[in-house]
Amino acid sequence: MTVKTAPLGICDHCGGDIHDTWYTRRGPRRYCCRDCRNTANSRAGAPVRAVKAKQRVAAGIWVSPLADETPEAEALRLARMGMKSRQVRRAEVEAGAWRNPALTPAARAKLSRPRTILDPVLHQAQEKLNSGQRVADLTPEEQAAYRAHRREMERAQRERWTPEERERRHEKWREYARRARERRKSKGGEG
Ligand SMILES: [Zn+2]
Repeated sequence: MTVKTAPLGICDHCGGDIHDTWYTRRGPRRYCCRDCRNTANSRAGAPVRAVKAKQRVAAGIWVSPLADETPEAEALRLARMGMKSRQVRRAEVEAGAWRNPALTPAARAKLSRPRTILDPVLHQAQEKLNSGQRVADLTPEEQAAYRAHRREMERAQRERWTPEERERRHEKWREYARRARERRKSKGGEG
């Protein structure tokens, strides 16, 4: 049984006026509103819950809710809390070594360029490849997007060649083709 602590008509929790009737069927009304009643009841119950929890621990029947957490669930929980990156940032700040990563010259240059990947399928493919998957692991759609992108990059690369570099590579290719022709000739045995 609870006992009213504040004077009649005053809320036991917030000290405000009780605008409702000052009595209930059980006696003096303690709180002005439901929120005050719930908050006060929760706080009154906290020591009781703590004692019960300590008794469960002492009796060896308490089981941590994290006991059967899978590694994936743990990683997700820690990531949500930002644990790893937060610890790293804090150490950097304490050592005076933290710099806004977006303000380095390299980052400024990169951020000022237009985005290169506008195709979501290609972007997905590159994310997978960056995470260690092989081209063969990609969906046919992603493979097609990735190969088209590679061809485009190689074409752009060729366009940047200097005349000397182009001549050097063409000479290499002619040499390769000549050897292949000779191999075929000697294999076929024709003259
Ligand atoms: Zn109140």
